[in-house]
Amino acid sequence: MPRRLLLIHTGGTIGMVRDQASGVLKPDLLYDSLTGFIPELTQLGEIQIEIPFLLDSSDLTPAHWQVLAELIRINHNRVEGVVITHGTDTLAYTASALSFMLVNLPFPVILTGAQKPLSEIRSDARANLINAVDLALSEIREVAVLFDHRLMRGNRTVKSHINHFDAFSSPNYPLLARVGMDIEIYQRNLLPPTGGFFHTMTEMDNSIDVYRLFPGCRTSSFVPGNDTRAVVLVAYGAGNVSLQDSDLIDRVRLWHQEGRLVVILSESGAGRLDPGLYESGARLLDAGAVHGGDMTFAASITKLMFLLGHSTDPASIRKGFLSSLAGERSE
Ligand code: ASP
Repeated sequence: MPRRLLLIHTGGTIGMVRDQASGVLKPDLLYDSLTGFIPELTQLGEIQIEIPFLLDSSDLTPAHWQVLAELIRINHNRVEGVVITHGTDTLAYTASALSFMLVNLPFPVILTGAQKPLSEIRSDARANLINAVDLALSEIREVAVLFDHRLMRGNRTVKSHINHFDAFSSPNYPLLARVGMDIEIYQRNLLPPTGGFFHTMTEMDNSIDVYRLFPGCRTSSFVPGNDTRAVVLVAYGAGNVSLQDSDLIDRVRLWHQEGRLVVILSESGAGRLDPGLYESGARLLDAGAVHGGDMTFAASITKLMFLLGHSTDPASIRKGFLSSLAGERSE
């Protein structure tokens, strides 16, 4: 029996074609002829192709993540793995969101994309797709990103390079697998099987404001909307802000008292926050803020949407944010 795989194409460079007149890349139904471009894909398994939408990934919203989760749910008894081809710009957000929405996954869900379209010479799409399909039929039971021969936990990834083929990295978590002559799967880095029944939890609430600090920043312009349920401060280093020129700490205390979750993240791309290390961070924590530990920005934001979507209780949202739901945060 050939193994059955669901391939969901959502758009992005991987399937785009260049408009001859303008030179601009545009989404195309290239996947109608996918197996024409990569005939050997059929050797790996029987592939069911779905195209729920065809968009540059900058246009995706939580509603699109819900469509993907639902497509996986309705097909989960029929297939042994899923590949999602996706634009690279917001791929880390989709991977993170799905990691929360798909609970007790029974098979791998592998997202991939490409820096150059499949239709172009020297494209990275071909290798990425073949490797993603191969890994989607493996024993991995989580949402992962395959790019440039490396498999990373989806909610640990960031798009870290605009032009290079190794566009994605996983700054705070080791690789799940590496593709060379053979595929090496690093068992010790995989999520342990949960044994629970597979289901989806897809409510998302985007009532989140994000304020990023910079030296000289007018923090008085940080005014959450009435319906804002979480405020994210992108601070410096271990979680520091300036104490010199603003009443930011007092306002954090007020936001917290108003029942909003105040989250400190760091502008630094790698490492783990430790706001207690310096005075300003310690005062933010004292004012009621929590910090994102070693989570990526994409994981933090999608996790907040997920938690706000599934609870109205500030204490459980806070607790959920500080724990690991799908391997996105180290204990
Ligand atoms: N703008 C494209 C997208 O994210 C870029 C890409 O696919 O690499 O859809």
